[in-house]
Amino acid sequence: MNKKFAIAVHGGAGTILRSLMTPDKEKRYTEALADAIAAGYDILKRGGTSVDAVEAAVTSLENFPLFNAGRGSVFTNKGTHEMDASVMDGKTLEAGAVSGISNVQNPIQLARLVKDKSGHVFLCGKEAEHFARLMDLPFQPNEYFFEEGRYKQWLEVKDSETYQLDHTIRDEKKFGTVGAVAMDMNGNLAAATSTGGMTNKRFGRIGDTPIIGSGTYANNNTCAISCTGHGEYFMRAVVAYDISCLIEYKGLSLKEACDYVVKDKLVKFGGEGGLIAIDRHGNIELPFNSEGMYRGWKTENERTEIRIYE
Ligand code: ASP
Repeated sequence: MNKKFAIAVHGGAGTILRSLMTPDKEKRYTEALADAIAAGYDILKRGGTSVDAVEAAVTSLENFPLFNAGRGSVFTNKGTHEMDASVMDGKTLEAGAVSGISNVQNPIQLARLVKDKSGHVFLCGKEAEHFARLMDLPFQPNEYFFEEGRYKQWLEVKDSETYQLDHTIRDEKKFGTVGAVAMDMNGNLAAATSTGGMTNKRFGRIGDTPIIGSGTYANNNTCAISCTGHGEYFMRAVVAYDISCLIEYKGLSLKEACDYVVKDKLVKFGGEGGLIAIDRHGNIELPFNSEGMYRGWKTENERTEIRIYE
């Protein structure tokens, strides 16, 4: 048994400026990231699987109202919340994803059940909610998903055709999607990602988060990846799978692959954002090409590390 294990989490990337952060807010974000790491780490430490660990970490992040996922999801053009999530098991290459779902308390738990119990990979909308009911997952009323800051964000743009990544104030761009990647004691990798998408999104818009290979990917032979950023670009660049392919086909290290895709390829393409990654040796990378990214990690016998800025 490989005794090494590790977990990394993110709470979104974007224009996260020190000048706009209050000590109280920073403390809340830091604690939320640390709680998510602890939730996943405890499972890994007890010999649990990486899939259980990433699901637990993302559930914890979804329950924290300041991240754009689960409870803190942004408003759509209709003033509703439509959430996307996905999870992948690097050992079996099994995956589960949901998109455009409302009122499900923890979309990542639904994605997990899609993987384990539906016989399919990707379910959407009302029928995915129906499946959640059959699986006895908790639902919440609309008020549960109401967050004052997000509501104000939406009021600013709701009468326009503009849709925006999770801006907290005008000119501050922030992608608040959450995610986790982990390696367990058996060397198995997993990745999970969850989001409310973009403020004022219309027409059933879906981003990269629930798309296996774009926002989420895991393969024991290479790495596990969870992305955050401007989904349209991450989908077209097939970011998560691209990194895995660079390792598998070109023999790049995790760091080389991540740096090339996030800091070179995506920048030239115009895709702002970042990702968290872990490879089969337990190496962790957390690259981003924006001002900041809420992120943290912990490996066996080491302390919890949390960072927000470069
Ligand atoms: N990638 C997400 C999307 O486009 C947004 C984010 O990362 O905040 O839906």
